[in-house]
Order: sequence, then structure tokens, then C-alpha cells
Amino acid sequence: MPALVVVGAQWGDEGKGKIVDLYTPYADLVVRFAGGANAGHTLVVGGEKVILHLIPSGILHQGTRCVVAQGTVLDPEVLLNEISQLSARGVSVEGRLFVSDRAHVVLPQHKLVDGLREAQKGANAIGTTKRGIGPTYEDKVGRRGVRIGDLLRPALLEEKVRANLEAWSPIFEKLGGTLPSVESVVAQYVELGKRLEPYVCDTASIVHTSIQKDEKILLEGAQGTMLDIDHGTYPFVTSSNAVAGGACAGAGIGPTAIQKVIGISKAYATRVGGGPFPTELLDEMGDLLRNAGGEFGSTTGRPRRCGWLDVPALRMAARVNGMSEIALTKLDVLTGLDELKVCVAYELDGEKLLEPPYDGLESVKPIYETLPGWKEDVSGCRKRSELPENAQKYIEAIEKWVGVKVGLVSVGPDRDQTADLVDPF
Ligand code: GDP
Repeated sequence: MPALVVVGAQWGDEGKGKIVDLYTPYADLVVRFAGGANAGHTLVVGGEKVILHLIPSGILHQGTRCVVAQGTVLDPEVLLNEISQLSARGVSVEGRLFVSDRAHVVLPQHKLVDGLREAQKGANAIGTTKRGIGPTYEDKVGRRGVRIGDLLRPALLEEKVRANLEAWSPIFEKLGGTLPSVESVVAQYVELGKRLEPYVCDTASIVHTSIQKDEKILLEGAQGTMLDIDHGTYPFVTSSNAVAGGACAGAGIGPTAIQKVIGISKAYATRVGGGPFPTELLDEMGDLLRNAGGEFGSTTGRPRRCGWLDVPALRMAARVNGMSEIALTKLDVLTGLDELKVCVAYELDGEKLLEPPYDGLESVKPIYETLPGWKEDVSGCRKRSELPENAQKYIEAIEKWVGVKVGLVSVGPDRDQTADLVDPF
């Protein structure tokens, strides 16, 4: 059962795109199992940037098949744009890309309401990417969603779109927005459905067949554990399960099929949007990490909030994901600092906490340990043993505090800027 799950161990943007891209040559099938076009994976291939929101980054490897599974929510326009972008770079997706007929469709009203609500919340905004992901999941759970398969059935689509728009009508009235007409949505989405049709199928059975053939399957998560709907900093979370367990429901496989979970973590921490972030640095150190790490969202361009590594959050991530190992990214960003701080526990009302509490995360005081930094350039290191001594000590300390070993270490954005890359299966 060679299925491997790669998940974000922090607040997303951990560099999952690069790691999945590195592991893909070892995989037969790459499956995106949750989230929507709010996730942006930036890949650097031969010095050129490619940003993918929906299609697994594995698509860049000819010979690898890619699935966008039913746990995701899809904006057909974004998906079709990615397909065109890839063809323009000479990457053909024909016969290699499979899109679930069960995945839910992001409709114009979802994007509109996302923007209207965030505007209304003002300072309390969740900081969504306004791509309609939350409202689409809302409709999915409310059993009034439209699925990709419906786009291929115009009469059924019209019925569903009509009911869906009726359900949103009072909300739009209250928020002062204008709903699109049934006719315009149906006409647009029937057209999009026609263009998507060659890729649409029951992807769970493709994954199943792959498991039966003992092929290697890479299950790619979106966002991060601290943004998971059940385990994250609710309500400042995404609308789906970003944890490894989400791979089962989202891809349509049983837990027994998963043999390994790799959690991706930066060597420091970042967060986009609102919500508690105990180790946030609001001083020059925060600016320094932001600039050195290029911490600006790949989907929205928003500056990311930056801070020291948060071990209590990582500990929880290790537990709820059943993490087998950590892939540590962006170690190079810390180069040049005299010393590094790591939050090893929180203090809340005089109590020491080793993991995030039910509430009060916004009031916890990080308890820091200070470690010496390093000045040597690490971007050329291809083995952990080649890293400066203090960088090695930093990694060892993380392993000790989190209780999970660090496998791979990423020392730069490019594919080859990686230490200790081995076959993950
Ligand atoms: P993802 O959504 O988890 O894939 O993360 P993003 O793609 O949004 O952000 C990760 C960013 O960091 C991208 O711009 C990557 O090219 C870059 N990146 C990944 N690994 C490293 C690394 O080890 N060092 C540096 N400097 N950049 C990295």
C-alpha cells in the first residue's frame, strides 16, 4: 500500500508545492484531495515560475497522472486557465489529468458573496482569498451544491442553479449584492462543462485501481493543519480538512491504504489573514524574515505575517496527522542571523502549555529558547551533514522538541536546492 500523504504542518504556504514536485518523480499518481483555488503552489522549474492553484504540481512531470479529487471545490475557469497555461509551456495534460465528477463547483454567487461578507466584516475579516471556496463548501454541506458532473447535464444543472440562487437570495438582499441570473450562470457553466468534459470521471475508482496495482500514490494536501476546519484556529480556518485524514475522504480511499505522512514545515512560521499567531514578529525581525523569505502570497500577493518557529503548533500537527517525518523548508532564510528563537511552549494564565489550547491562543505568551545562528551560505548543501554546525543543531533541537524526525531539508526555492532527498515511498 504505497500511498503517501504530504500535508502542511503550519498555516499553509510551507512550500508543499516544491516538496510534492520533488517527490513526484517517484510517484505514479498524484492526487489533490482538498481545498480550492485559494491554495497557490509556486514552483520554480529551470528558473521559471509556475503557479498552480488546482492541478497537482505533479503535472509538470510527463508520465505522471494527476487527479483533482472529490474533496476539492473547483472553479472551472481557473482549472481551464491552468490547462491552457500548461499547454503554452509545452506540458500536455491529455490522458494524464482526471477531474472528479463529484467535486463541487464554485459558482459566480460564491465568489460574490465571499467578497461581500469580507467587506462587511471589516476588521474582523477572516482574510479569505475571495475565491468563493468557503461559500461553495457551505453549499456542499447544506446539500444544495452543484457538482462537476452536473455541468454535463444541462437540464439538471438549471434546476440546481435555480435552487441554489434562490437559497442565496435573502443573503444577497441583506448584504446589498446583485445575484446573477439563472440563465447566465447556466449558459456559462454548460460551456465550461463542455471544455472540461474530456477530464471528468469518477476519480475515486482511478485511485482505487492504482492501489490495486500497487502503484505509488502521492496525496497532496492544501493549506495547513492550523487552518484545518476541525483542528485549526477556528473560526480563522479554511472550510475543509487540511489534515492527513482528509486524504481518505477527499480522495475516496480507506485509512489502511496510507503508509506514510510527511508534514511540511518552514524553519520559521508564517500566517496569511486574520487569526491568532502566537510567535508573530511585528518588529524589524518580522520584516527581515518577510523580505528574506519572499513571504508574499502567491494567490493574492498579500504580505504574510512572519514569526519564529512554533513548536506547540507543530506538536499538535504531528499528533493529528500521524506525521511520520517532517520536511523542513526555507532553512536558507534564517542564514545570517546571530541567534534564533524557537517557541517551545506557551504560557497562559500562569500555566505552561505544550500544545495550542481550546481557546486563548490569542493571549498565550510564547516561551522561547534561543539558539545560535549561522552565517555560512546553506543553499549549496545537499546533505544535512554539509550544513553549518549550528544549522544542524537547530534541526536536531526541532526533532527533539516536536518528537518527529526531519527527513528532507530545503535550502532554496529551486528543485536541486534540497538536502537529503530520498525516495519517500
Ligand atoms: P505552498 O502553497 O505550501 O506550496 O507554498 P507557496 O508556494 O505559497 O510558498 C512557498 C514559497 O517558498 C514559494 O515561493 C517557493 O518557491 C519558496 N520556497 C520553497 N522552498 C524554499 C526554500 O527552501 N527556500 C526558499 N528561499 N524558498 C523556498
